[in-house]
Amino acid sequence: MDSPPCIDTVVLQPTPFCNIACRYCYLPSRSDTSTMSLDTVRAVFAAVFASGWSHPWLTVIWHAGEPLVMPVAYYEEAFSLIASLCPPGIEVRHAIQTNGMLIDAAWCALFRRWEVGVGVSIDGPREIHDANRVTRQGRGTYDKTVAGIRCLIDKGIPFHVISVLSAQGLQAPDEMLAFYREVGITDVCFNVEESEGDHVSELFSEGNAEARFRAFLSTFWRKSRESAGIRFLREIDGMLTRILRPDEAAGENSQVQPFGMINVDCHGNVSSFSPELLGLKNADYGDFIVGNIHTDSLQAMRQSDAMRAMHRDIAAGVAACKAECAYFAVCGGGSPINKLTENGSFATTRTSFCDLVQKVPTDLILEALDRLETVLDDDMLVRSAS
Ligand code: SF4
Repeated sequence: MDSPPCIDTVVLQPTPFCNIACRYCYLPSRSDTSTMSLDTVRAVFAAVFASGWSHPWLTVIWHAGEPLVMPVAYYEEAFSLIASLCPPGIEVRHAIQTNGMLIDAAWCALFRRWEVGVGVSIDGPREIHDANRVTRQGRGTYDKTVAGIRCLIDKGIPFHVISVLSAQGLQAPDEMLAFYREVGITDVCFNVEESEGDHVSELFSEGNAEARFRAFLSTFWRKSRESAGIRFLREIDGMLTRILRPDEAAGENSQVQPFGMINVDCHGNVSSFSPELLGLKNADYGDFIVGNIHTDSLQAMRQSDAMRAMHRDIAAGVAACKAECAYFAVCGGGSPINKLTENGSFATTRTSFCDLVQKVPTDLILEALDRLETVLDDDMLVRSAS
């Protein structure tokens, strides 16, 4: 831990409470109605900005539970407070990941005023979405989520969606594409339902998840480019920037750096590495908490036993990845939460994350580039012969 951290992301948990109860949710405290005080927000950013460790473009992600169960006025005050603490030379960008059910004109006005990056979780057409994304009474949430999305579209607020692909969605690339086009969704990200925390995905017990995702993504990518509608597909367009970069530009992975990300729960407890670690229990690493923002300095947290133990094991995993994995240049050593959940240790390498998030998109892009090269070679041959 010799070189100073470069904090590019702060993940804040304004409340662990969620207004719904998705069947694949791994969050243990989604019924806890505690909230993060503005004093805690102040303490986080006073510490981050005073540390000198902040990246010039600092992303603040309001996540975990459902962030929109907090009132609009809370964010107005929190955003103003952070802006008042922010020193010159640092640009703060806010992002919110929401289930979309509470979005209305007042939320859209806040998003516009503060240029908030908005992500909405929706899993596809009604029968796919409502299979998992349900209320505590088991009722589907499709109508309210689509109403929220339509409000964003009506008000001209840019947004993307994240769709969790369970077995049903993986079989339905055409239906998913038709759904996005019908609603007017242009920017799409997919998360294949994974095992995280206490949640064990059935997809993986059925086997063949990699081949099924590959077939899904290949079809979706091809068909989405055959006509207008989808402008951004994270699994392809996001991966392209990691593949097509100068050799000297290192692939970044802030999830494996101590304080590359700072993750703070509503009580001010601080963690790092994968945000999903916050709230999980583990005796070996002090429940992944390196300190509390009200009582400990970031410098002390960086030197804490929990941080050192996590960094030691995560770094061992990254070193093994670098030694043995052909995808290291685009991946940078993966996601610690997946390694711990699937392999039982941070100091490991391959997980389903590798196959789904790194291998499948990279292989599809490289195959497309190979085909392009063949076409260009044939074209050159024809031109030189004529
Ligand atoms: S793809 Fe998997 S094995 Fe390869 S570098 Fe990433 S985490 Fe490590």
